[in-house]
Amino acid sequence: MKTRERNYTKELLLVALGGNALIRKGQSGTIEEQFQNLSVPLRQIARLSKQYKIIITHGNGPQVGNLLLQQECCDATPRLPLEILVAQTQGQIGYMIESTLDNELMKLGLDVEQYFVTLLSYVVVDENDPAFKNPSKPIGPVFSEETAASLPYRTIMTPKGFRRVVASPKPITIVEKREIKKLIDLGFIVIACGGGGIPVIRDGRAFEGVDAVIDKDLASAKLGEEVGADIFLIATDVVGVAISYGRPNQKFLRTLTLAQAATFMQEGEFSSGSMSPKVEAAMQFLQKGGKRAVIASIEHIEKAVAGEAGTEIIK
Ligand code: ADP
Ligand code: MG
Repeated sequence: MKTRERNYTKELLLVALGGNALIRKGQSGTIEEQFQNLSVPLRQIARLSKQYKIIITHGNGPQVGNLLLQQECCDATPRLPLEILVAQTQGQIGYMIESTLDNELMKLGLDVEQYFVTLLSYVVVDENDPAFKNPSKPIGPVFSEETAASLPYRTIMTPKGFRRVVASPKPITIVEKREIKKLIDLGFIVIACGGGGIPVIRDGRAFEGVDAVIDKDLASAKLGEEVGADIFLIATDVVGVAISYGRPNQKFLRTLTLAQAATFMQEGEFSSGSMSPKVEAAMQFLQKGGKRAVIASIEHIEKAVAGEAGTEIIK
């Protein structure tokens, strides 16, 4: 009873883990590397679970790309569509997060009282979303121009070479929001919306999977709004949001007002597909009633929650 009462007074923290929580730049992404990398955020999240109710969301870029490559490499079995591959990554990454979290909770002596669960999550998108007419999100392996021309799907030239592009429609609602809320209220740490969620469109009262990849930061903001998260922390591989990023006068910001964020966004300070959806997600979360939104490095999750690191977006 005591634990439950305490749980009701705790604030709800949603941590969105970027792809580099699993595979860092320059690594090939062996399973050993991925487990090792995950201990950095999960050690901090395990400690934070003493003070906060917690939801963990995560990206899946490299993992879904690898599964896609495996489809291309093998003709012995039928090729699987993207929605199935996203579902697979929710399982594999959920498992890796759970087992690492369990180890970290055990070190703190919290593993018996702190429950956790990974939930398959569908996210509804609009079949008329303009993103379906203009696929823009590069995923999976890099091809030569010649190979790209022979592929059955659309590719675009990226700085790395030709890559497949898929639609990245906006998340409208998280199908399992009530289940997630219930589990949180029961004291579970919930791992959900992996890879931005399995994209589905409504077909009458049922759902149908579609070939798309939803941005994980925007899906996380939507989930945060729908379950009433207090704090939204986007953990990535830079210490926060910078202006003049990558230029000699680059400057990381400790705070960013909604008005400044909108101006910088218009001025193109944040690259599309990386920092731009993070700032947009943080803004949306605050505009929909969230209390705090912070973008910080994966190493600084605890400090960022304490207000001592990262870039805090403020109203
Ligand atoms: P994640 O896997 O965490 O989603 P992304 O690669 O999508 O990571 O986004 C983080 C990247 O955003 C950083 O590594 C950085 O290169 C890039 N970025 C683009 N614009 C900015 C900016 N204005 N400030 C900071 N980082 C930026
Ligand atoms: Mg990203």
